[in-house]
Amino acid sequence: MENKPYRSLNEYYREIFGRKTAKISLDGGFTCPNRDGTCGTRGCLFCSSGGSGDFAENAALSITEQIERGKTQTAEKWKDPAYIAYFQAFTNTYAPVAELRQKYEEALACPGVEGISIATRADCLPEDVLDLLAELNKKTKLWVELGLQTADEASAIRIRRGYPLSVFEQAVYALAERNISVVVHVILGLPGETRETVLNTIDCVNRLPVQGIKLQLLHVLSDSDLAEIYDAGNYTPLTKEEYIALVGDCIAHLREDIVIHRLTGDGDKNTLLAPLWSLRKRDVLNSLHKYLKENQIRQGIKYKSF
Ligand code: SF4
Repeated sequence: MENKPYRSLNEYYREIFGRKTAKISLDGGFTCPNRDGTCGTRGCLFCSSGGSGDFAENAALSITEQIERGKTQTAEKWKDPAYIAYFQAFTNTYAPVAELRQKYEEALACPGVEGISIATRADCLPEDVLDLLAELNKKTKLWVELGLQTADEASAIRIRRGYPLSVFEQAVYALAERNISVVVHVILGLPGETRETVLNTIDCVNRLPVQGIKLQLLHVLSDSDLAEIYDAGNYTPLTKEEYIALVGDCIAHLREDIVIHRLTGDGDKNTLLAPLWSLRKRDVLNSLHKYLKENQIRQGIKYKSF
């Protein structure tokens, strides 16, 4: 674990690609079963109109054009990084396999793209999609990012995730059987959740064959249904201090080999209603690192094996 008290994404990417690595967020023009009426129309409680892809490139552009734009922006910061094509917006395995294949292969054909990361829902991985992912996994470095958000069934119903925990677990095992790396998205600060609920979610992740986790702060975005609950005074976002202490707890309980892909949330400042402190990302990370040091927290120090 380099000089950070947790398994960081930078260190992990350097092990794989040998240099700085940039993820280019794409909008492949997909929708989501929780939006199109298959299992809901209003989406998850916190989901924005951009389908959790508020920083993704413009869906009106081709995948190649989106990647070229992403590369131009990155070139201002880093020289010759490795690129990962990140299918971020909405549900990126929710289309016929022929369409998925075309979009993924277009991304991989772009010069400099050395890996692909696909964000999706656990209930959108039918057998033919799994076969396609297994095929891709043999050609490139592939990550599948699954939005668990919480392992608590009541909380999952409250946020309208749309499937039970068992579906998530089955998806993880189906991907693991194919040697596909899984990154789990967990949200901290969900309505009604306590420290105990969150640590139960971390324990659930620890038990599964996953390689990465994103810890994300719940954002209240103006174009989400959560905004109505917040405006009515029925949801109180975490304070910065509460969030940092909770992340510290998660890191302490997390299995040591799991790579932490994210420790904050990335809210769109144009639509973020709360918590506004999260916009100062550098400050949040600095405060977190200070907190970890002061409290001698390292990843896995409170991990319980099962
Ligand atoms: S699964 Fe993702 S894209 Fe679909 S409604 Fe939920 S957060 Fe939005």
